[in-house]
Amino acid sequence: MASKKRVDSIADRIRDVPDFPKKGIVFKDITPVLSDINALRTSVEEMASSFMDLEIDVVVGIESRGFIFGAPIADILDASFVLVRKPGKLPWKTKSVSYELEYGTDALEIHEDSIAKGQNVLIVDDLLATGGTAEATCKLVSELGGNIKGLSVLIELEFLSGRKKLNQYNVHSLVQY
Ligand code: AMP
Repeated sequence: MASKKRVDSIADRIRDVPDFPKKGIVFKDITPVLSDINALRTSVEEMASSFMDLEIDVVVGIESRGFIFGAPIADILDASFVLVRKPGKLPWKTKSVSYELEYGTDALEIHEDSIAKGQNVLIVDDLLATGGTAEATCKLVSELGGNIKGLSVLIELEFLSGRKKLNQYNVHSLVQY
């Protein structure tokens, strides 16, 4: 369990930006966390700590803020690091999945050779909102045969109930709203 003091040192640096990127959204700006190397280091350590004993082979980071936390978490867990990106960004052969947004659909891609069947996978992002992005990522990882051991996010917007879409998985968040 993360100490309250350590979690507070991160939460104090998450900035609310109302009406960004559109009216009615309160954007959780993590750039002040990134500006403070102690807060960034604590975030990464705490996001990795619940998954230390799960023999994680691969950490999957979700574009784009998931990359910032995912790569150092992979280092701590001695795992490889894999990117999940928006369509058209990955250069090699990809697997793709589309998912519902509030208005319309979006898609995510992964390199088809990035996860071997049976490898233990941890999925990382900065924030869990409705859970659509994380659910789509779980689908990609499962289609490649990865064994999803959990999801680790810095921030969880509990009022959006994203966790419900992920109820078969071990979801860990550090700061909740
Ligand atoms: P969702 O698919 O609704 O769970 O949205 C998660 C993705 O959208 C994450 O990659 C977040 O970075 C981003 N996101 C959604 N809502 C917010 C918010 N209020 N503040 C910052 N990022 C957000």
